[in-house]
Amino acid sequence: MTETRPLWNERIERMPADEMRDLQLARLKRQVAYNYERSPYYRARMDAAGIAPGGVGSFEDFARVPIMDKAEHRRVQEESLERHGTPYALLACAPPEEIVRISATSGTTGIPTLYTLTAHDVAVVNEMHARKYWRAGIRPGHVMIQALSLSMFTGGLPLSEGIIHMGACVVPVGIEGGTRRVLEYARLTRAHALIATPSFGQYLIEQCPEAGAGDARALGLRWFFCAGEPGGGNPGVRRALADGFGARVFDHTGGGHAFHGISCDEPPEEYKGMHFVSEDHCLLELVDPHTRAPIAIAEGAVGEMVFTFLDWRGGPFMRYALGDLIQVWTRPCACGMPGMRFKIVGRTDDMLIVKGVNVYPEAIRNVLAAFMPRVTGSFRIVLARPGPKVDPPLRLRAEHGADTRAGDLPALEADLMARFRAELRVAPAIEWHAPGSLPRDAHKTKLILVEPQGKEA
Ligand SMILES: [Zn+2]
Repeated sequence: MTETRPLWNERIERMPADEMRDLQLARLKRQVAYNYERSPYYRARMDAAGIAPGGVGSFEDFARVPIMDKAEHRRVQEESLERHGTPYALLACAPPEEIVRISATSGTTGIPTLYTLTAHDVAVVNEMHARKYWRAGIRPGHVMIQALSLSMFTGGLPLSEGIIHMGACVVPVGIEGGTRRVLEYARLTRAHALIATPSFGQYLIEQCPEAGAGDARALGLRWFFCAGEPGGGNPGVRRALADGFGARVFDHTGGGHAFHGISCDEPPEEYKGMHFVSEDHCLLELVDPHTRAPIAIAEGAVGEMVFTFLDWRGGPFMRYALGDLIQVWTRPCACGMPGMRFKIVGRTDDMLIVKGVNVYPEAIRNVLAAFMPRVTGSFRIVLARPGPKVDPPLRLRAEHGADTRAGDLPALEADLMARFRAELRVAPAIEWHAPGSLPRDAHKTKLILVEPQGKEA
């Protein structure tokens, strides 16, 4: 194994698109037949939809398989517990004696939905972590502090195991260790890389002097890997982390399952999304979140992500929708790394429909961000009643920049409107506010406000 090669798995990661589609289709046919034969749940679902296991010969045939979401997953899990005494009897395809790991999504609401893995599946997940970190330049000899939740959620143990698999060194402190321990171990082990949520990263930069650790740059970290929250794609957040730690910043996703990606090695402001690194093990589809009609995967397309694990033996997900909206880019990336890219633009729960056009708060944020410092970037969407349908115009409350005078507003608004029309096909009504006047929330700011007419603040 030469350590100078740029990709962990050159053959698969640089596979030409046609060849990859063929590999996906071959694996898909085998997976569908396997799921039908081994999972009572999938068998019943395909029978009800009139799909025979041998009847899936193309991606179009496969698109007739009904989509499954988290609520449905929870229901199957409950039924499985009641009828069979295990949570995965109906969905998992491997017998219990082959299941070696159960992890869960990190969602904080409702009953956790479980991922079940065999030793084969664990090896697949390890391979995906290796592909991501290798692209970022991590090699054996590098020490990585794991400061995400170490609990059973998908980032914890699966991610740590993946690092061990690729031959680098993991220090699994976990966010459970708190600020002091993370800083202590980063110094003690002379760590090269830190993996954490972007908000925890920013908090560490602030806390470093108070914890007697001096400037965060003195830690000597060369990489900061963001995970667990959307901030890793935000140029301002990326810049703050890069400057605060004096490190290269990467955004990455993928825990204990088959959907993985990592951003390019580019300046913090030039976020181009994450390169999809697990195409051979995960079939990605886009659908309209409202109608569930398919959306072609093409440059710039936005839709709800639906994925299917290929070559998975434990609890394979088949046409599974987690409720994430993504945007994709299929043209080759300027960074030179292979693979289509995607960016998580929001949750389907946040989608609004204005005159038949789907609008996402995250997309509005991106348009406004392009006009900084003429605006601060802070904004709210104000609805007269809960969405997704909105009576036009879409009302926005936005802060103008500190140096923007009242006389500059008409020109600013005209420029913004041209951009909104071109990129989002909406023409919002903007109500201007002074910089800093919209409340800031340390955690997740609610971007959508529902204020019945006549009760305006
Ligand atoms: Zn790239």
